[in-house]
Amino acid sequence: QGHVLLGVLGDPIKHSKSPLMHKIALQAAGIEGNFVPLHVKPDQLEDAVKGIRALHFRGVNVTIPHKVEVMKYLDEIDEGARLIGAVNTIVNDNGRLKGYNTDGIGYVRSLKEETSVELKGVRIAVLGAGGAARGVIHALLEEQPESVIILNRTRDKAELLAEEWTTEAIPVTGYSNDEAKNVLATVDVLINTTSVGMSPLSDELPLETSLIPEGTIVSDLIYNPLETRLLRESREHRGCIVHGGLGMFVYQGAVAFEYFTGVTPAVDQMRAAVLKSLS
Ligand code: NDP
Repeated sequence: QGHVLLGVLGDPIKHSKSPLMHKIALQAAGIEGNFVPLHVKPDQLEDAVKGIRALHFRGVNVTIPHKVEVMKYLDEIDEGARLIGAVNTIVNDNGRLKGYNTDGIGYVRSLKEETSVELKGVRIAVLGAGGAARGVIHALLEEQPESVIILNRTRDKAELLAEEWTTEAIPVTGYSNDEAKNVLATVDVLINTTSVGMSPLSDELPLETSLIPEGTIVSDLIYNPLETRLLRESREHRGCIVHGGLGMFVYQGAVAFEYFTGVTPAVDQMRAAVLKSLS
């Protein structure tokens, strides 16, 4: 493939683990190339996107705060990314830039790989109604669950999201956090997509764990800390199978790497490298 130049656009970008993870993937695949962090302020985003073409980048990842804004500078947006309303991956096909969103797909791959859960026909509760929830719900619906419940601090946002995503086959309903007690009794999988519990406020809980049915699969998008208080208490007090957010990060990168290079990357080596750098 010649020299494959890849990168990640964000602000801040210093702490991104993407360069480390993708460089390992390039190396393991025997592809000559590089993956560089690109610090781009919001007012320089348009120029930065033009620079992808001018500098012959094969592709870039896009992170906070550019995932929504970047869409207007691309030539084409994949259907899933358009529905989610955000792009985290841009592929440069001979100067034509196409945007994708691999966050939700990456999340679901990680959940299935790491817990062996069969999502078809299950009842899922999602905590939070922000950007991460959109990607995750989009990918979950592809798995044909029986139903999805959205619980959010701001009820209106949960209801709007539910209305947007509900289909003839799969009801999606929105509630406020205060209603958790009444609606959680029958769920099989619970997923925290809020930032509650993230370091340095790792003592916070997005939900009282006593409300979680025993034996539920409990998942958290947060990977700093690797095991949130929600996951620890669910595991210790409710006998739950728990799943953290590191795999989502690794798999969103793995799916992006496939789009960039056409090669399936060494996911285990990518995960090990990120894990080592976090500890
Ligand atoms: P947003 O800001 O878009 O959404 C935040 C959500 O959290 C909203 O639903 C908000 O509720 C809720 N929330 C925030 N603070 C509180 C609080 N104190 N109490 C109750 N609810 C709260 O963020 P994102 O969706 O972009 O990201 C959410 C999380 O997902 C982050 O922790 C991020 O690190 C993680 N993430 C992980 C990834 C991975 O690779 N593992 C990838 C992407 C994200 P309200 O509507 O009421 O404001």
